[in-house]
Amino acid sequence: MIELLPERRPQIVRKSDGAPAAEMACGKASTAGSVSQRACVFCGSRVVLYPICDALHIVHGPIGCAAYTWDIRGALSSGPQLHRNSFSTDLQEMDVIFGGEKKLEAALLELIAHYQPKAAFIYSTCIVGLIGDDVSAVCNRVAGKTGIPVLPVHSEGFKGTKKDGYRAACEAVYKLAGTGDISGIGPHSINILGDFNLAGETWIIRDYYRRMGVEVVSCITGDARVEDIRRCHGATLNLVQCSGSMTHLAKMMERDYGIPFKRVSYFGIEDMSAALYEAATFFGDDPAIMQRAQQLVREEIAAIYPELQRYKQKLVGNKAAIYVGGAFKAFSLIRILRLLGMTTAVVGSQTGDAEDYRQLQDISDPGTIIVDDSNPLELAKFCLEKDVDLFIGGVKERPIAYKLGIGFCDHNHERKEPLAGFVGMLNFAREVYASVASPVWQFAPRRAGRGLGSRF
Ligand code: SF4
Repeated sequence: MIELLPERRPQIVRKSDGAPAAEMACGKASTAGSVSQRACVFCGSRVVLYPICDALHIVHGPIGCAAYTWDIRGALSSGPQLHRNSFSTDLQEMDVIFGGEKKLEAALLELIAHYQPKAAFIYSTCIVGLIGDDVSAVCNRVAGKTGIPVLPVHSEGFKGTKKDGYRAACEAVYKLAGTGDISGIGPHSINILGDFNLAGETWIIRDYYRRMGVEVVSCITGDARVEDIRRCHGATLNLVQCSGSMTHLAKMMERDYGIPFKRVSYFGIEDMSAALYEAATFFGDDPAIMQRAQQLVREEIAAIYPELQRYKQKLVGNKAAIYVGGAFKAFSLIRILRLLGMTTAVVGSQTGDAEDYRQLQDISDPGTIIVDDSNPLELAKFCLEKDVDLFIGGVKERPIAYKLGIGFCDHNHERKEPLAGFVGMLNFAREVYASVASPVWQFAPRRAGRGLGSRF
């Protein structure tokens, strides 16, 4: 029997039938002793900026922080691979005593001379905040000497939640906006915000918009180039996925450049279609864009629907638990699972806000457990209680699922399969089926003797 910490109870809700959505505590520092699944502020910044592939990314701190670097996401590049290098100032005891500024400046000058990046991002970690290095001053000096933007990311790990890291990343990358030439950008143009090109997903989405006749000025930050980000203020519309990480950037661009933004998701048939129609509706002055969007949606769904139906027949009636970074992705996942005949019994996120959790309660089935900033013991308890067949999460949730003998789908950092777009919907169904129906589960203690059932 796994007990809940009393301090955690306000962040957990069980949806009751017909009752209005309950208020959930969220957006606060993790409870001490709870061993949160959340990453730190620095990690939040790192995952957002890391896919800018022609920039230098240097972690100013002890080498341990830099472990959160090497291919932590499967963010692919169609060109430069500089972002995949693990640079760190490797602060030691003497640097902590006397300060790390000289070491940082020397490292930056050496790396910029060697790699010739288009910009450099310097991530402050906990120890840098404690010893008080003036990272901004170092960045200004190095920018003056090298002529490239050298951008501090104020992401000291202790100073908030992962969401504060997203904000620090937005502040840093925003310094590039407005510095490029926007001549030649057409009126039907967008920026894709909050897609990180995991397993090449940005390429799929970009291609859809291209087929509709919509110009993509920049993607921030999937397969991003510094020069494209410099021109992002020339786009007419911002489409924001992963709203937890990029809404702040979209709001700054709306404030300073008058560019409106829409929240979209590229996961699942319904949300992917809606994202395309959102852009087509916005550019309603050219009806051909909507016609092309409708044609595209028809073709893409026709191509995947028969196989999807086959997986649905196999998966119907299975139960899932979802624990993801941003709540917006959870909305899409609940809808996708329904499309496959599955139900969601547990759903949670690391960084959802009050409105996200109200909406999650609205779209969830009665009895669903909804949880903010959870920990491994809670997640294990809920998975066992609800007897789920599948856990959808990230790298930190995978061992929980496997230890319990539950199928797992990585919808986060490490995956190598694109799950966005129409083709991604089919990949998702295939992966869920392969994991849920794997014969290995009949040997897991929890399921031993139950077999796999006739469906598989
Ligand atoms: S920044 Fe702080 S919390 Fe984050 S990895 Fe480094 S030491 Fe840990």
